[in-house]
Amino acid sequence: METVAPEKEIIEVIKENGGDSFKYCYQCGKCDVVCPWNRVRDFSMRKLIRQATFGLTEIDQEEMWRCTTCKTCVDNCPRGVDQITAGVALRKLGAEYDVYPGNIGPIQSVVASLTSEGNSLSGERDKRAEWAQGLAVKTYAEGMEVLYFTGCYLSYDPRMREVAAATAGILNKAGVDFGILGSKESCCGESIRKAGNEDLFKRLARENIKAFIENGVKKVVVSSPHCYHSFKNEYPEFMVNFEVVFISQYVAELVNDGRLELNKEFAKKVTYHDPCYLGRHNDIYDEPRKLLQQVSGLELSEMADNREKSLCCGGGGGRIWVETPKEDRFSDLRVRQAVDVGAEVLVTSCPYCITNFTDSCLGLNEDESLKIMDITEIIQAVL
Ligand code: SF4
Ligand code: SF4
Repeated sequence: METVAPEKEIIEVIKENGGDSFKYCYQCGKCDVVCPWNRVRDFSMRKLIRQATFGLTEIDQEEMWRCTTCKTCVDNCPRGVDQITAGVALRKLGAEYDVYPGNIGPIQSVVASLTSEGNSLSGERDKRAEWAQGLAVKTYAEGMEVLYFTGCYLSYDPRMREVAAATAGILNKAGVDFGILGSKESCCGESIRKAGNEDLFKRLARENIKAFIENGVKKVVVSSPHCYHSFKNEYPEFMVNFEVVFISQYVAELVNDGRLELNKEFAKKVTYHDPCYLGRHNDIYDEPRKLLQQVSGLELSEMADNREKSLCCGGGGGRIWVETPKEDRFSDLRVRQAVDVGAEVLVTSCPYCITNFTDSCLGLNEDESLKIMDITEIIQAVL
């Protein structure tokens, strides 16, 4: 099947969605040089932009779905083109016509799960708070200090539930009066928006905003950089006003205010991975590092690609939901970079990164070992 969307429609859709800057592209190819895909296989954002300029985009091509929205090309384009916005606009056409080619197919069932249960993992809405059973976690009530917005992966994924439990443990230890929304919490909608489903994003955002307003929420702490990005930079489109704080920033604040003491040692060689949506998208680089540097015995080293040049794990832009063949996984390269600097622990703070890196560790040699941890798990271990 070859589906070429009509020229006018392609160009109009990109413009309507704020991707008008694509017309400034002069085809220098810098985006392709910096794109992580070209470390594992050929992929050309430059070519996608070129096709779109002439309205010649074939919406059934898998290439349209490769971009992980890591933002490296946006930060490096000499003409100020916003490749992510243009690329997402193209995906909107795919989503509109329900065209999810090849490996992208699973997004259809994610759409169904988000629509019926408010999460991307086919979990039941009623079980969203199950992770907190047996822990001292209350339901949020107006007047509490913070809402802990757990997010889909930390609510349902067995590995990530351990991170939610570590986070609750830290908040309790610091005496924070916090609560969760449980089944009234819905996916933040960030990734499905980048996968082109704007209507579903809006629906999820409105559900969350309604729950925030009904419960008098003023300050939200989040564990996922995707929730952080959405609340901070996308929800203001709905004219709402609440404070959002990322967990590593919040924990640093608790330590600085003397509410948490990092008493124990963590005598290991650690390297920190900057998630794209925390680093490049939101400029949070220093707080997590400063927090780790306060842990006694912890030896922090930097990987080859760090901070602004951090190598994407491959999970953004909805790619966490699709099958990426082993030879195409950037996370394999990242895990290798961690081993190469002698790290025993690769620490980060994103559910997508942790999921992808954990998978990639299976490919390490028998004499190599690397533990993948969330930053909250290290903090909890030293309290
Ligand atoms: S870096 Fe910018 S100007 Fe150069 S090809 Fe890519 S989008 Fe076009
Ligand atoms: S945002 Fe990242 S993955 Fe997407 S085209 Fe740009 S560099 Fe490549």
